[in-house]
Formats: sequence, structure tokens, C-alpha cells
Amino acid sequence: MGRVSIENVSKFYDGSSDGEGKIVAVDDVSFDIKDGEFLTIVGPSGSGKSTLLRMVAGLEDISEGQIRIGDRVVNNIQPQDRGVAMVFQNYALYPHMTVRDNMAYGLKLTSGLSNDEVQKRVEDAAEMMGIEGQLDKKPGSLSGGQQQRVATGRAIVRDPEVFLMDEPLSNLDAKLRAHMRTEIQRIHEDLGTTFIYVTHDQEEAMTMSDRVAILDQGNVQQIGTPDEVYNEP
Ligand code: ADP
Ligand code: ADP
Repeated sequence: MGRVSIENVSKFYDGSSDGEGKIVAVDDVSFDIKDGEFLTIVGPSGSGKSTLLRMVAGLEDISEGQIRIGDRVVNNIQPQDRGVAMVFQNYALYPHMTVRDNMAYGLKLTSGLSNDEVQKRVEDAAEMMGIEGQLDKKPGSLSGGQQQRVATGRAIVRDPEVFLMDEPLSNLDAKLRAHMRTEIQRIHEDLGTTFIYVTHDQEEAMTMSDRVAILDQGNVQQIGTPDEVYNEP
């Protein structure tokens, strides 16, 4: 199912264009995420959080090591075949499409589901996110919070085993952020799927997670429950 194993994974970038030689973005990282677990990856800017998440998503090649999702090594598996869905910081919605089409588009292309089945999934996900009244609007006419709901809804329609979220709330104001935290927790509880959630917000990490992994300079400094990571000496 939605277990994720990160096994001796490294990512190197060629930094020669800015005179830096090889950049080690992720440095021989290993840990497991249990099926159904909510794991948060925190750490300062540039610590490798996005790169690690993007390697799980298949948006970035793995330089060394391997990543398994369930029983499969996914290093050479296309993003749409990994059983994952990702929510991006900037939502990455198509401005010219309606909310309905934004949510249906990827699924139509890759799932082989009938149009009726796709529409049913879109409507169920929209209801879950409270955006059923927005389906015929374009993203540009929605508030930031609503756009965030659309992006999360678009991930839900894919029925993934693993949700990947890259700073999904960081473009929202503090009040909405606090509200969306509880919504994401509710979705995690309702769906029971695995979540890997990248943030630099310690409060999100403390309140949402089963476990927190702290990254620094491409290394896992600590991994444990929020209590273990933040409260124990
Ligand atoms: P974080 O998400 O924690 O801010 P990133 O994963 O974005 O960190 O970046 C980790 C390191 O890798 C940084 O030093 C960053 O500059 C570098 N990096 C990320 N993407 C690229 C890229 N496409 N080319 C070169 N270096 C990159
Ligand atoms: P984040 O930390 O949220 O990933 P960034 O602004 O660091 O945001 O990165 C935005 C994009 O730029 C990402 O696709 C990342 O891979 C790329 N990037 C980051 N650092 C570098 C770099 N040094 N050289 C080239 N691309 C980079």
C-alpha cells in the first residue's frame, strides 16, 4: 500500500554554471514512511526538502539510491504510475480551464476512467473540499484559499496511495492557514492515506504530524514524533 521507503537517496546538481561544482542537494538519506502515516519534512530553505519530495513524485531523477512505494522500486516509474498525487505551493492550476476541468484533466489523460466516472470523482472531491459551488469558475476568480482547495481536490480525485504536499499553505494568510491545517488533517483522517508534507512552518509540523523529519544541508538531523523532536532535551 502506501508505505514509502527512502533508501540511501542522494541528489546531485551540476552547479558549474554558478561556479560551485557539484551541489549535493540530498545526501545519502534513508527513512521509511509507514502506510497511512502523516510525515512532515521541515528544515531551512535550501536544505533539500523540495528535492526529496520531487524525487518521490518522479519530477526529479534520483542520482543515487532508491525509493520504494509499496513493494515497487519507483526510480524508473513515470510520475502518473506511482500512485502519488502532489499539491504545489503555487497550486499550478491552469488559468484558462474551469475548476471542474482543472480537477478532471490529469485523470482523464492517464486513468482510463470513463467521463462519467471522472465527473463523479470530481464532484465527490469538490464536495469534500467545499468547492462544489465553484466548479464552473476559472481559478483566477477564486480566493487563494479556494485555489488551494482546488489543488487539493485535484490530488484527491487521483485516489493516490501517497499525498505529497510542498508548502501548500505558505501563500495563505495566518488565519486561513490555521483553518486549512485542520482541513488537511481531516482529509488525512477520512482517506487514511499516507501524507508527506513539506513545510518550513514549525507550527504546522507540530500540530499535523505523526512524525517529523528535520532536514539540514541534505541530511536528516532528527526524525520522530513532534514531542520527541521539539520537546525532549
Ligand atoms: P528546500 O526545498 O529545502 O528549500 P531544495 O530542495 O529546493 O531545498 O534545494 C536544495 C539545494 O539544491 C539548494 O542548494 C538548491 O539551490 C539546490 N537546487 C535545487 N534545485 C536545483 C536545480 N534545479 N539546479 C541546481 N541546484 C538546485
Ligand atoms: P523551493 O525551495 O520551494 O523549492 P525555490 O525557489 O528554491 O523553491 O526553487 C524553485 C525552483 O527552482 C525549483 O524547481 C528548484 O528545483 C529550482 N532551483 C532551486 N535552486 C536552484 C538553483 N540553484 N539552480 C537552478 N534551479 C534551482
